Amino acid sequence: EPALSGDFSTIMEWADQIRRMKVRANAETPLDARTARKFGAEGIGLCRTEHMFFNDERILAMREMILSDTEEQRRAALAKLLPMQRADFIELFEIMAGLPVTIRLLDPPLHEFLPKTDEEIAEVAKSMDVNPKRLKERTEELHEFNPMLGNRGCRLAVSYPEIAEMQARAIFEAAVEAAKRTGQPVVPEIMVPLVGIVSELSFVKKIIDDVAKQVLEASGAKLDYLVGTMIELPRAALTADSIAREAEFFSFGTNDLTQTTFGISRDDAGAFLETYRKKGIIEQDPFISLDVDGVGALVKIAAENGRATRSGIKLGICGEHGGDPASIAFCERVGLDYVSCSPFRVPIARLAAAQAACRNMG
Ligand code: PEP
Ligand code: MG
Repeated sequence: EPALSGDFSTIMEWADQIRRMKVRANAETPLDARTARKFGAEGIGLCRTEHMFFNDERILAMREMILSDTEEQRRAALAKLLPMQRADFIELFEIMAGLPVTIRLLDPPLHEFLPKTDEEIAEVAKSMDVNPKRLKERTEELHEFNPMLGNRGCRLAVSYPEIAEMQARAIFEAAVEAAKRTGQPVVPEIMVPLVGIVSELSFVKKIIDDVAKQVLEASGAKLDYLVGTMIELPRAALTADSIAREAEFFSFGTNDLTQTTFGISRDDAGAFLETYRKKGIIEQDPFISLDVDGVGALVKIAAENGRATRSGIKLGICGEHGGDPASIAFCERVGLDYVSCSPFRVPIARLAAAQAACRNMG
């Protein structure tokens, strides 16, 4: 049942007739996905799979996977995660039946998943049946001073390809099953995070394509899928022409792109950016409103260069700016195909996209 009714829903219908850009939502739980649909989202633009690992059973399996010393140990942990992920994706595909769903491969800053206390280490050691002393050493080895610039995103998939392999398998098996259940085609869009070098994307794409082949041969099913990337590092934006050789879509991760363009931590910026605003150094917090001259310039370069290599490459945005009206107006000017934002911002994004389309008509 729709969440919007009466005059408001009439206005939204008018807006929908006018806007050019699609509006998707960032969602990973069934509740988020259902909310997104009620508010009129036309797909999921970002499913952050690392957010699916926060319950106790899963965080334990995730810790086992990260702390493994050998590929064999890691595969044992991944074997526990595979059925959970498959079930997650089946549910998302079913809820979003017929609409596009972009699933991003794991992008966890490692520190969020490392055990923090001796009790937590003991729990993982018991579950893995290994010596807690070795596990403590391993936790220390994995410590990073700058986790947001560390072994996350596609770097994790390069270090431990079996993680990407598990996720790709879960996605394809789920897509085949959901297509059977809903009677509608499911076209998963698999997104590789934090790419800065085209060969990172080639490396991960090969894993995805190999798994797709295996799953489709084993099931006898047919399935279309897309592989694309986040553009969230300045280097990715500047080399978007090469990246587009491998990517069938780009989604702008303007949270990380703002962080890495300004060199300001997205997690610690709050206090001093407010001082900057009060003292007139900046007008707007760039993490809220897209910095058109800087970060926006990179988005524009990437869109143009991506299209030069692959005309018609699908372009979207899934950073927080995707729900900010002024930033949405910028996305319209650059000609993005869709914006993706948190489910509750979908109605605002639908209106803002319509307003932006009107302005562009002159
Ligand atoms: C981003 O960086 O803009 C993004 C959408 O990814 P995340 O916020 O998960 O890093
Ligand atoms: Mg990011």
